[in-house]
Amino acid sequence: MIAEVVVDISSSDVDKVFDYIADGSVSAGDRVLVPFGRQKLEGVVVGLKENPTTSHTLKAIEKRLDPEPLILPEFIALTEFMRKKNLRYADCFRLFIPGKLRGGRVRELLRNHLFANLDKDFGKEYESIPLRAKAQRALYKELYEAKSLPERVVLEKYASSTIKALTEAGLIFKEAVGESRTPVSMSVKGNRPVLTKAQQAVADKIISSDGTFLLHGVTGSGKTEVYMRVIEDALGRGKTAIMLVPEIALTPQMLGIFRARFGSTVSIQHSGLSDGERFDEWMRLRRGEAKVALGARSAIFAPLKDVGVIIMDEEHDSSYISESNPRYFTSEIAEFRAKYNGAKLVLGSATPSVESYYKALNGEYVLVEMPERVNARELPLIETVDMREEIRKGNLGLFSSRLVREIDLALKEKNQVMLFLNRRGYASFLRCRNCGFVPKCPDCDVSLTYHIEDDTLRCHYCGARFKSIDACPKCGYTDLKEGKTGTEKLEEETKRIFPDARVIRMDNDTTRLRDAYTDILTKFSSGEADILVGTQMIAKGHDFKDVTLVGIIDADIALYYSDYRSAERTFQLITQVSGRAGRADKAGKVVMQTYSPNHYVYRFAKSYDYRGFYDNEIRARELTKYPPFTKIVRLLVLSDAEELARSGARSLAAEVVTLKNERAGIMRVQVMQSAIKRLKSYYRYQVVIWIDCDAEDEICPLLYAAAGRASTGKVSVFTEINPQQML
Ligand code: ADP
Ligand code: ZN
Repeated sequence: MIAEVVVDISSSDVDKVFDYIADGSVSAGDRVLVPFGRQKLEGVVVGLKENPTTSHTLKAIEKRLDPEPLILPEFIALTEFMRKKNLRYADCFRLFIPGKLRGGRVRELLRNHLFANLDKDFGKEYESIPLRAKAQRALYKELYEAKSLPERVVLEKYASSTIKALTEAGLIFKEAVGESRTPVSMSVKGNRPVLTKAQQAVADKIISSDGTFLLHGVTGSGKTEVYMRVIEDALGRGKTAIMLVPEIALTPQMLGIFRARFGSTVSIQHSGLSDGERFDEWMRLRRGEAKVALGARSAIFAPLKDVGVIIMDEEHDSSYISESNPRYFTSEIAEFRAKYNGAKLVLGSATPSVESYYKALNGEYVLVEMPERVNARELPLIETVDMREEIRKGNLGLFSSRLVREIDLALKEKNQVMLFLNRRGYASFLRCRNCGFVPKCPDCDVSLTYHIEDDTLRCHYCGARFKSIDACPKCGYTDLKEGKTGTEKLEEETKRIFPDARVIRMDNDTTRLRDAYTDILTKFSSGEADILVGTQMIAKGHDFKDVTLVGIIDADIALYYSDYRSAERTFQLITQVSGRAGRADKAGKVVMQTYSPNHYVYRFAKSYDYRGFYDNEIRARELTKYPPFTKIVRLLVLSDAEELARSGARSLAAEVVTLKNERAGIMRVQVMQSAIKRLKSYYRYQVVIWIDCDAEDEICPLLYAAAGRASTGKVSVFTEINPQQML
């Protein structure tokens, strides 16, 4: 028999199926060792056949690596699907198979456990911990009752500083022990609330029908509870489930809720797992011991059989799109798997993406809605502060007087505050500090990007260039340049203005280590800080009971990224951050600072009018021919020699123009420098192509092929479809 084998080398030269002689024990999905040139390589059998395709002498498979095929037939089919999206065989399998299995040997690991010091008198020691140190008391009690727990499980619920304090007091200690890596759950109160009417109606609808559902539920409407009921239903039918959330929403709280409900049936995949743990979790799913996979986007590749439901919470979130190699859209993989398994697909969000909502209104998805918060709690009142007024009054700082007053009030009442500042990233724009005017491209209706190198304003869609302006064409004011303000500066300012408040910051810089991230959240939720300052990271998913005030320092920042999604992204961000306030018994309030208070996005965001926003936005997209009415393809051309990048992009564009003249489907082609001219020593040019939605399957392979031909040793070309940002 002949086996078709894909080898584990990611290179376009060997990105094909190789024939090997196999004996009767080999089946599709087997991992095997094969001779390849002078080496021995790992590979996956993707098919079997009677006769070879080539007349070359064939070599034989050296050996099978596992007692049974590890790759499910579904994943071999998925590979074929992903290859149409321009992925290589080896990259696909690297997404499916844990690193520990590939070329590695799986060993028993020693792992840190925490033990209660049983020589101590619990009652006496417990009383000696100050009342204020709530977390220490709780952990000591829990550990004493459990005798010992894996450190990493404890860290899901407690800060490392809490562990340290108890260790130093001699009440607990750490020791490495061998263990089966199956995560142990901590005692979490797992009450199963009675569903509200809206929750019940939505759950019933999803459970009783098939297809793709768009759950539009306001923040705090109790979407998580609905997801869990739908998962319970799938398990009840003997099926399995995949639950996806954005990485930053994988909080200890979220993990706790799922552990409490599903116990060891749930397998949680987060970035804090070691390779060994990741492998164990994968095997638990593969063997069917765990039936629910909960994790960030890569959990879509969970090796589950008989998937009954796939849920994507916060479906609009950009973290679902893998923009670095291998590039994939989680939603496309989810659709594939749902179809393959006949599973339900549930997309949930308080602010669905315009594209998804469009599909829902057109009957492609079933729209289900939860327009109110659980227990009919009000959504927080959003107050707009016109920052231009502040400047006129001589206040050039980050805080309006209104926001300062509200923070004072919240602190006085012993409530918590979250301050949100979206960092601008690389591209910057010009804005009049007096009237809020931002220069836009007359043809494309996106903000122009300011290039400091040559003092120009450029459109990153059509490439138009304008000389920068010194004075505002609307009001004549001359203070136009934007100073950079980041979260670090905001933290400093906050501490200066509120010296008595305990302030912590959360952004990419403070959370490089997984523990740090958990630490910050745990500190804040246990009341060890009064003000949490942060970026997008603090915007989503968190459910802090004592937060009554959210301050949005500069709402406009997301608005002036130069791409067609900027209004949508702004609406989403404001709604999401606002959703953090007033989630429990206390009413919440939001102070939103802006330099363009009359922008339509704010009008709709203030009244939580998603539909109004959508109607407005979809009209604009139709007029300007942006998605969902077209697909935008970007071919990003990189080279460390500028001339090669430029000429590469130009000849690629010429080729696409020829294609455009020969076939229907391509609407428009533009070539230009990228918003970021040079990154990591690579010069960046781009070809932007507008294509008919129906033409994607026909045109994209041609574009991939053209991009492939243009990639030479010195030039790399990356293809992106509907890129999240055109930087
Ligand atoms: P969303 O994801 O829609 O923003 P969550 O799922 O976080 O909302 O739910 C908000 C809060 O309401 C949570 O604290 C949750 O425990 C609580 N909750 C959800 N459903 C119910 C219910 N039926 N009864 C009481 N509380 C509920
Ligand atoms: Zn333009």
